[in-house]
Amino acid sequence: MSLEASDEHALLLRMVQQHLDSLRRAGVDRIPAPPVIPPRTRAIHLRSAPVEVPNEPVLPPPIVAPPPAVVPPIPTATPASSLFGSSGFDTPAPPPSERPALLAELRAEVAQCTRCPHLAATRTQTVFGTGSPTARLFFVGEAPGGDEDRLGEPFVGRAGALLTDMITKGMGLTREEVYIANVLKSRPPENRTPLPDEVGHCLPFLERQIAIIRPQYLCLLGRTAASALLDTALSLARLRGRWHNYRGIPAIVTYHPSYLLRYPEEKKKAWEDLQMLMQAMGLKVPKRPKA
Ligand code: SF4
Repeated sequence: MSLEASDEHALLLRMVQQHLDSLRRAGVDRIPAPPVIPPRTRAIHLRSAPVEVPNEPVLPPPIVAPPPAVVPPIPTATPASSLFGSSGFDTPAPPPSERPALLAELRAEVAQCTRCPHLAATRTQTVFGTGSPTARLFFVGEAPGGDEDRLGEPFVGRAGALLTDMITKGMGLTREEVYIANVLKSRPPENRTPLPDEVGHCLPFLERQIAIIRPQYLCLLGRTAASALLDTALSLARLRGRWHNYRGIPAIVTYHPSYLLRYPEEKKKAWEDLQMLMQAMGLKVPKRPKA
């Protein structure tokens, strides 16, 4: 210890001694011991060196499993009448009691029609349609022929006889139970195929007939009827044998009876089409149509 340190130490002792003497003179005979601070508490008061704490690791966002994909149910064998959902008509179906008067009104309008001047000038009369105003099944042909023009009723010639057989012997129905009409209401000269503008002029009449009757099924006979109502240019071979949709009404396409008279070997396919229709309508399908 150096001399200066020894002097300071002696001075410090003398000051402590003087302080103790003054306390004693003031009546203080003991000095309480300093409180014992537990190490852990004391550590809180101590300033410790900064500790480097490693950053929290940045984890990638958790992978959330995507919700299971919604797989549409596979359609099962569904009755054809429910295949096409809601009605595609602008107006509700008229009550059955009002349909005869509505058809009579439309028939009178058609009888005065001259939208196709040449057809109006050459026809004997218009051929509107025949059958039940509440028919479940509506047959649509092409145009009146010579017999129809003369008698004013659709499908009354040889082709009409074959259609009647298809309805009665094949399907077990009567002509009175179904409805039968053509796309054109006036006969084209020489029974030629209707021209596109003639179809365009007359199709609204057929559409109004269908809107009044609201059949559950349509059977479109030949390409003219199919292309007019289904708005398609596909061949009849591509159209037959499957269901189509006209404003929510299930429709099948098959050969026109006139074609079947020329090509009787195709009757088998027409019978297959009718069987498809009968199954959908809940009609009993015989193994072979009655002769
Ligand atoms: S075919 Fe139809 S649109 Fe043409 S004149 Fe006859 S009724 Fe009228």
